[in-house]
Amino acid sequence: MKQGNIGVTTENIFPVIKKFLYSDHEIFLREIVSNAVDATQKLKTLASVGEYKGELGDTTVRVKLDKSAETLTISDHGIGMTADEIDKYINQIAFSGAEEFLDKYKNDANAIIGHFGLGFYSAFMVSKQVEIVSRSYQEGAKGVRWSCEGNPDYTMEETDKEERGTDIVLHIDDENKDFLEEGKIQELLSKYCKFLPVSVAFGKKKEWKDGKEQETAEDNIINNTTPAWTKKPADLKEEDYAAFYRELYPYGEEPLFHIHLNVDYPFHLTGILYFPKVNNQMDLQRNKIQLYCNQVFVTDAVEGIVPDYLTLLHGVIDSPDIPLNVSRSYLQADANVKKISGYITRKVCDSLSDIFKKQRDEYEKKWDNLKIFISYGMLTDKKFDEKAGDFNLLKNTEGKYFTLEEYKKLIEANQTDKDGNLALIYTNDREQQYSYIEAAKAKGYDVLLMDGQLDVHLASHLEQTSEGKLHFVRVDSNVADKLIVKADAAASTLTVEQQSALSQMFRSQAPKSEKTDFMVNFEAMGADAMPIVLTQNEFMRRMKEMSALQGGMASFYGQMPDSYNLVVNTDHPLIQHLLQKEEEACGAKVKPMLDEIAALNQKVSELNAAKKDKKDDEIPESDKAALNTANERLTQLGADKEKVYNDFAASENSVRQLIDLALLANNLLKGQSLNEFVKRSIQFIQ
Ligand code: ADP
Repeated sequence: MKQGNIGVTTENIFPVIKKFLYSDHEIFLREIVSNAVDATQKLKTLASVGEYKGELGDTTVRVKLDKSAETLTISDHGIGMTADEIDKYINQIAFSGAEEFLDKYKNDANAIIGHFGLGFYSAFMVSKQVEIVSRSYQEGAKGVRWSCEGNPDYTMEETDKEERGTDIVLHIDDENKDFLEEGKIQELLSKYCKFLPVSVAFGKKKEWKDGKEQETAEDNIINNTTPAWTKKPADLKEEDYAAFYRELYPYGEEPLFHIHLNVDYPFHLTGILYFPKVNNQMDLQRNKIQLYCNQVFVTDAVEGIVPDYLTLLHGVIDSPDIPLNVSRSYLQADANVKKISGYITRKVCDSLSDIFKKQRDEYEKKWDNLKIFISYGMLTDKKFDEKAGDFNLLKNTEGKYFTLEEYKKLIEANQTDKDGNLALIYTNDREQQYSYIEAAKAKGYDVLLMDGQLDVHLASHLEQTSEGKLHFVRVDSNVADKLIVKADAAASTLTVEQQSALSQMFRSQAPKSEKTDFMVNFEAMGADAMPIVLTQNEFMRRMKEMSALQGGMASFYGQMPDSYNLVVNTDHPLIQHLLQKEEEACGAKVKPMLDEIAALNQKVSELNAAKKDKKDDEIPESDKAALNTANERLTQLGADKEKVYNDFAASENSVRQLIDLALLANNLLKGQSLNEFVKRSIQFIQ
């Protein structure tokens, strides 16, 4: 028997394994099983080139649990190891700079294992003793038993072993007893080993017989050795892709599309990506993509490794060229990984535009579900955005779909403003904005439906990338006539005083709230349009929406009140009638005030002219006093006049009624105001 000391040079490896690798204990199984698979594949390669001439026999890797002996054994019929090889590959794990490295990556078991090639030693994370019983495939090789109890001392001796291959026997330690549970091992095997390229059996299949579960003679194979992504796209049918999706996500709904990735140059990468069907935001889950390295599961936490928008997709990416056994921060900075990300993006874009071109109908049918992914990609990935014009669609309220280029052509003639820019009119709520949509359509405008979660962002994004040539305008942001400014505004038909009277009347009757601000504007919209229309400024509204989405508590726009314009249609008979009544009721009272105001204004401007260019001490005291008195009187008169209009507005039910109707059309009339409105309406009927 040979005794020796494992060649760890700078530090004893065992406490390190136990102490630092706590977070990822379970990966030991992946490491040991994939070593067994590697050994099997190596033998198959030797057999195929004629270097191994014996029988391959049954090459299934077997995982066995022995609860009474408290062992977990992984057996293979691969190439095996001679005593010299165990010495070389297992005993002499020399490494340098260990302390520094371990300190840096102490919470990242993958990084440590990858760096030191410590796959095998990860067994000591869960074992108090590990045995290797192996016999090399080489002719005349003898069996070897190696044993180590988690310290730098090991024993190695010759042993009888009939069959070629290796058994790794893990004596599970007391703190890790859960790895002796069948359910736990089954779970880990299906997480890490589900697609390994060599059959792996975990015990025998069970069946119900005589009222209890009994073992059959058949192996319980836990993996699919030839998952769809390893095959050629030409050899796969739609059903195969659908079946593979179910294999990955047994409870998932059927996906919208798949994209098969298959590259050899300049790096090796295969995989299948699925666009899942999302019914609501809750379905949007990150970390559904699984990353594999030669069919060994590595991680499903792919953020930072693949482009951000891809983390919303489902499927598998397999590459031996992504340095998988290193830390996350290292991966994110890796130039190779960036190149791979860029490639995946290009491939995804090419596939999407291909599907769009060849199966436009299908694509349009799926668009409503697909849109969130495309929007997210455009907003977060420059490369994706550059290509997205080919397959990003806009949908109008008629349910027709257009690429941006197609849409521009459609609206060019009728929706170009006076500066030569295109106005894209949209609604984000076709029920609530129904009357505005109808008004816009009546002017021959097309109205887009933009009610997706990311549409506000996307609209701003498209505006920016168009360098000011495109403007998105929500259909209720102005009256239909002004949605697109085609010529400079015509002068108002009302006198200044008429405007001031109406303005004061409506302002005084508008609901008072700290959260809402109302401004009164005038517009000649024609006798058929509504008497009062409520609009919300596009810019202000969007700023508020953006800051709400970004959750900026302190943000300026988030704290601004909602501001609405009450646009008074000066052409409407009701408004003209109201103006007439106002003049009858208030004219006599206001007339002397207006005369006095005019006289005072005259005086104030004379006094101001007289004091111009004079220093304060050169102005006669009498002039100063006169100016003060005049200004005070003007303020008083202004207030008196307002009161006359306010009193009239309060006495005239139709003012409040008109405002309420405009609010109601926007679903803004609630609570007590709504109640009052209903009562008032009943009075009108009586
Ligand atoms: P890695 O697999 O990354 O090289 P490991 O520590 O897991 O590192 O294994 C070290 C070496 O031990 C392997 O490269 C292989 O040569 C040998 N080895 C491990 N397990 C087996 C096995 N089941 N059969 C044959 N050789 C093995």
